[in-house]
Amino acid sequence: MAELKVLFATSEVAPLIKTGGLADVSGALPAALRAIGVDVRVLVPGYNPVIAQLAHHQVVASFDDLPGFPPARLLSGTLANAVPLLVLDCPSLYQREGGPYQNTQGHDWADNALRFGLLSKVAAVLGSSASPLAWHPDLVHCNDWQTALTPAYLHFAPGAVPSVIAIHNLAFQGIFPPATVQQLHLPPSCYSIDGVEFYGSLSFLKAGLFYADHITTVSPNYAKEIQQEELGFGMQGLLTTRSDHLTGILNGIDTDEWDPATDPYLARQYSSVNMNGKAVNKEFLQSRMGLNIEPDVPLLGVVSRFTDQKGLDLLLEIAPLLTELPVQLAMLGSGDAQMQKTARDLSHLYPGKIGVMIGFSEELSHQIEAGADMFVMPSRFEPCGLNQMYSQRYGTPPIVHATGGLADSVADCTAATLKDATASGFTFNGMTAENLYATIQRAVGLYHNTSQWEALRKNCMAKDFSWQNSAEAYRTVYLKVLGR
Ligand code: ADP
Repeated sequence: MAELKVLFATSEVAPLIKTGGLADVSGALPAALRAIGVDVRVLVPGYNPVIAQLAHHQVVASFDDLPGFPPARLLSGTLANAVPLLVLDCPSLYQREGGPYQNTQGHDWADNALRFGLLSKVAAVLGSSASPLAWHPDLVHCNDWQTALTPAYLHFAPGAVPSVIAIHNLAFQGIFPPATVQQLHLPPSCYSIDGVEFYGSLSFLKAGLFYADHITTVSPNYAKEIQQEELGFGMQGLLTTRSDHLTGILNGIDTDEWDPATDPYLARQYSSVNMNGKAVNKEFLQSRMGLNIEPDVPLLGVVSRFTDQKGLDLLLEIAPLLTELPVQLAMLGSGDAQMQKTARDLSHLYPGKIGVMIGFSEELSHQIEAGADMFVMPSRFEPCGLNQMYSQRYGTPPIVHATGGLADSVADCTAATLKDATASGFTFNGMTAENLYATIQRAVGLYHNTSQWEALRKNCMAKDFSWQNSAEAYRTVYLKVLGR
């Protein structure tokens, strides 16, 4: 069989540039696919940190006259895990202070349509007979709204290969005024309900969902949920129509980066056969977060974007009650200004019991996974979620709302699941503060039963969250799309 070649277009890739789970997936899935013989190359914009970390690069193509876009170049490089990288270099669009999507004030860049229109356009050129590269993919795999115009451009391009669009979060859709269709040189005819139009605007994501040959999303349960009104964000009709071409594949995690036995960020490494180090990490975390050094008080960890999606408002609401259980709380995250303020205020009201760090810290996120006794993730919706998998690998049972990928990756602790050794955390239905509180209370009850708690931790750490199974599932999708 001819080798399978895939262009993986993404707006972020760990460790070069990361705002969330998409970067983790883009950093790990291509490597896992290469390990099973798929020739994947990653296309990513040349933001400042990406260019800065590109050690040796070559200019492999120039795009001087893409209609509607400024001149751009393609640089070749490699990720640390040896995955070949194509960096889209267009300084006027990508090299600025701030994040990939927002400026330093947290506002979306005004020219995001152009920035991600170009990324989508170049991905489509590379997947068509107009490509300047010698390497021609069999298929383009795009991810989320930022690359979701690719299938639309491909649809109208000569000699185009098929495309797959992966939904990592349906809540972000890339909605722009209708005039953007002309600005981005999409054919006017595609601005229709059977095309890129979505309630009177251009939707990048809708374009991808409509034109891609296949749609994937990051957990089987989320694949079902997005076909319903509650979590379909207006796309449920289209997704239901396309359900024969929609597959849910649970993300894996990078098991090298997230391994308590080798993690360089930890105060002491540990493993399921030697858990002694976990207590050392707990004490370290308590000290780093300004918490009282209490070995026997359960410590709840949180690492999260502070947004409505993550349901942390419920946790903040019950935090004072939780301190009386007693438990301690160590929170790392940033986002919504009001939520940040509430969290900070709580840490001042409950010194030694609630520790809050506002910001983004890879190091501290590892230390929380290791040092906490339990990890809390009460997301309202969660396409897949990664932290609940990291926490299981670190022997830190997660407490989660049973939604999306959380329901697919955490088995609730019951008498039956403890008995058959499948229990791996605590789940609740019904998104209320009462339900969250009751579930934390249930977890704390088990924590004080040492032998059962140890058994639960062992179950967590024995689970296989590696990318291999998921990579196989993606390859199956690619082959199906290609009719091979
Ligand atoms: P999402 O992509 O919706 O933010 P995920 O759980 O899928 O949620 O992935 C989030 C990723 O970003 C995880 O790797 C998580 O550890 C990381 N992360 C989120 N917030 C922070 C933070 N403040 N500091 C460090 N890492 C963070």
